[in-house]
Amino acid sequence: MAPPRTYRCEAIILGYTPLGEADLLVTMYTRDQGKVRAVGKGARRSSSKLVGHLEPLTVVKMSLAHGRNMDVISQAEVTQSFAELKEDLTAITKGQYLAELVDGFGAEANPNPGLFQLMIDCLRVIEATKGRESESASDMPLRFFEFHLLQVSGLMPELYNCVECRQELEPDAHRFSPNVGGTLCLDCSPDDAHLRPLSLRALKVLRLLDRSGIVEACKLPVDAGLADELKSLLSNTVAYWLGKEIRSNSFLERLHKESQPEVYI
Ligand SMILES: [Zn+2]
Repeated sequence: MAPPRTYRCEAIILGYTPLGEADLLVTMYTRDQGKVRAVGKGARRSSSKLVGHLEPLTVVKMSLAHGRNMDVISQAEVTQSFAELKEDLTAITKGQYLAELVDGFGAEANPNPGLFQLMIDCLRVIEATKGRESESASDMPLRFFEFHLLQVSGLMPELYNCVECRQELEPDAHRFSPNVGGTLCLDCSPDDAHLRPLSLRALKVLRLLDRSGIVEACKLPVDAGLADELKSLLSNTVAYWLGKEIRSNSFLERLHKESQPEVYI
């Protein structure tokens, strides 16, 4: 039986680039299909019914038509605009960081509803707390996002036992490396360029991020030194995996394209 010609989906717009005279090539993350790239025909014309519906960091319900190479957006309805977030440059920048990570980690034709919901939850908290967080706590929604991005991607770091000797970790300073999968006790010294110190209080926050919801996590008291350690540790861990993921994603995408006999939009 032939697959249906059109489908509906709920999507977060991650970004777009101009295409041809008046079209947009839109990258979005959908709840049920994973990452989707689709064409908004005529979307750059002021008369288009798609104008204002395809802005980055907007949640939309849309109808798409399957194309040979690229799907085409036929209808879009905004369900969550994050208009207040978009009034604040710092909040926009945080949202763009989330969008870049979802673009990098999200794969086409590989749905991950947990990742979709994680991005929406984090955008909501960034919007609700914009402009009124303390300096050091203001990035906790990003740390929560990075941590749970690893979790929903199956890359959750080990936080309770040494990844080498499997001994339960004592309440002490330890070391951490994304390359070996998480935390190491002080007795284990693998030759690993990614190995870094991990303070006891940073380990405690990581364990709390594991157990907490985002609202609770963003209320944790975090001073500037701890905020810097968490930022360095989590953003470097995400970047470590992103380097690998981007290569595998683009390889899969190339394979997918090469399996299409004809290429047109
Ligand atoms: Zn060990």
